Amino acid sequence: MKVEYKPEVVKRKCPLCGRGHLLDEAKRPGTVHAILHKPEEADQASWFLKCPACHNQIGVSPDIFE
Ligand SMILES: [Zn+2]
Repeated sequence: MKVEYKPEVVKRKCPLCGRGHLLDEAKRPGTVHAILHKPEEADQASWFLKCPACHNQIGVSPDIFE
């Protein structure tokens, strides 16, 4: 059985193509905010996701959502 959980989220799209949906981010004070990096900024990223639309490697690093 599927658990209904609908937090308020911000859909984060790929910074390269603007089409690929990379992740949903909780819109709540105190949560960690994701900074998305293009492939040339990979040295600043902690995690990597592959865009489902353009297949580029997108870097992610944390910031505090205020
Ligand atoms: Zn993309």
